[in-house]
Amino acid sequence: MRIEDFDVLVVGAGLSGLRAGLELSKKWNTAVISKVFPIRSHSGAAQGGINAALGNLEVGKDDTPKGHAFDTVKGSDYLADQDVVMFMCEEAPKIVIEFESMGAPFSRLESGLIAQRPFGGAGFPRTCYAGDRTGHALLNTLNEQSIHNGVKFFDEYFLLDLFKADGRIAGLIALDIAKGELVSFRAPYIILATGGFGRIFKHSTNAMINTGDGVGAAFRAGIPMQDVEFVQFHPTTLYGTNILITEGARGEGGYLFNKKRVRYMKNTAPKAMELAPRDIVARANEIEVIEGRGFENAYVHLDLTHLGADRIKERLPGIREISIYFAGVDPIEEPIPVQPGQHYSMGGIGTNVDGDYGETEIAGLYTIGECSCLSVHGANRLGGNSLLETAVFGRYLGRKLLERGLPKKIPSRDILAAEEKVLNNTLTLFKSWNENLGKKPVEIRNEMGEIMNKNVGVFRTHDNLQKAYDKLVLLQKDFQNVHVSSDDWKFNYGLIRTLELRSMLDIAEATTFAALWRKESRGAHYRWDYIKRDDENFLCHSLIYRGKDGLEMRIKPVKLGIFEVKERKY
Ligand SMILES: Cc1cc2nc3c(=O)[nH]c(=O)nc-3n(C[C@H](O)[C@H](O)[C@H](O)COP(=O)(O)OP(=O)(O)OC[C@H]3O[C@@H](n4cnc5c(N)ncnc54)[C@H](O)[C@@H]3O)c2cc1C
Repeated sequence: MRIEDFDVLVVGAGLSGLRAGLELSKKWNTAVISKVFPIRSHSGAAQGGINAALGNLEVGKDDTPKGHAFDTVKGSDYLADQDVVMFMCEEAPKIVIEFESMGAPFSRLESGLIAQRPFGGAGFPRTCYAGDRTGHALLNTLNEQSIHNGVKFFDEYFLLDLFKADGRIAGLIALDIAKGELVSFRAPYIILATGGFGRIFKHSTNAMINTGDGVGAAFRAGIPMQDVEFVQFHPTTLYGTNILITEGARGEGGYLFNKKRVRYMKNTAPKAMELAPRDIVARANEIEVIEGRGFENAYVHLDLTHLGADRIKERLPGIREISIYFAGVDPIEEPIPVQPGQHYSMGGIGTNVDGDYGETEIAGLYTIGECSCLSVHGANRLGGNSLLETAVFGRYLGRKLLERGLPKKIPSRDILAAEEKVLNNTLTLFKSWNENLGKKPVEIRNEMGEIMNKNVGVFRTHDNLQKAYDKLVLLQKDFQNVHVSSDDWKFNYGLIRTLELRSMLDIAEATTFAALWRKESRGAHYRWDYIKRDDENFLCHSLIYRGKDGLEMRIKPVKLGIFEVKERKY
């Protein structure tokens, strides 16, 4: 087996991984490992923008980081940890200016300042953007900077499992997808930045690569999943394909209509209307359909026609293309058919209550970005806060580790023993997958996606969740006997899909388990059988571990602060 030695390993080349890698490579021998070429990471798909209280528009001139923090905490339905939110919002203007100085091509106001648009749940227009391709602009900027700074990239390497030695993280085993070779990467620090896991649902705005491999690897190593019951359903995904139609479309002034041509958001959020937080708008869209006011019993209309051709072409060119190609609708002339779809995971790899942000229960193992739960989004994320989170905590963690310095070396015999154990487990697993005669991975994956879509969606009940949970437990059993047809490991995408499925099943099971446990409605988690928020019993984070007899739930307090817990009104 090939061995690679580094000071620090970053798994993931999206915005969070690249920003951490960039910082660390200033002093340390840093490797960034990614299962896809860095600029194919899912961050590149981000459309609408990144939040920062810059106050560049006249109507936004009174905006402040504190106002941004307040909106974020209220949007989170008070489940976000207020210290970490405050830190993120204070760093936001600096992070956006840093991107600008690296050359990110933001859209501009006539004054030359970075343009900002209104987004859901925000008191001021604070979302900075590059047309409707913000993620693409930022990801390419960071990728260029990382190459310039000498980050060592391992593209198309797939993280399999982590190993510990001497009581701390010591490395990971990865598959070199092209060569079909197992490689041991050793390092005293590992940062998991492997992105979201929306693909546990059949319909999602996420790319096929968003399968939660980092969450799964951490979970298998004993790190809990935190707050995974909170799944964001974006209110406006294209009917049928569920491709995202950015909140920026409503930020630019788009309206939602039902088939009676009523702007129904006036009933749910009379002040914020279409720019209420996503959980609220998604539920309102679903209700229109459930109560018979949707089109074809399936979708509502997002109308941009009144914005005019020039504005749509300038600010939303990607949305126009998507609507024309995938729905045959030109938004300059006709409304876009939209429905809610899985979009973002507020939960993820559990992090410590105290200590550095992103620190896990295993010494030396950290996590940032969408795969992590640093608890900045609580029960519902505000649009534009995720791109922000990736860069703020990527930079923060890079700086923290450099400050901390490298720990003393672990004796190599301990590393060898740990490495060998994971290697042997991997070989045994691959062999059994070839020999098994059970279902194909795609069959299990499809069933899992259907179950999640049908039972763990925008509206939930005990019965549906229980049904989903029972079926997922059976699918876990099926997976024990999964069949991979080829034993050639080179570019073996049957094998890769199976490895992904291993983590996805754990996450789907944990999500459903946590949703069953949380007997209240908060943010994106809405239960028909418990329609009220219950601060007395559930103002806490969920932590799920795999125990000897199945999943186990523990709880962790929410860090409250200057913003009083109140009922949300928009
Ligand atoms: C369509 C869409 C539009 C969005 N628009 C916005 C927006 O406008 N504003 C906003 O704030 N947020 C937006 N979001 C959310 C935001 O884009 C993401 O949350 C964020 O970009 C995630 O970044 P990340 O660095 O955590 O992960 P990603 O960018 O997803 O990167 C994950 C990395 O991990 C690697 N990886 C994964 N598994 C493995 C493995 N097994 N081995 C090796 N490498 C692995 C991948 O190769 C990849 O490099 C949007 C999301 C979607 C789906």
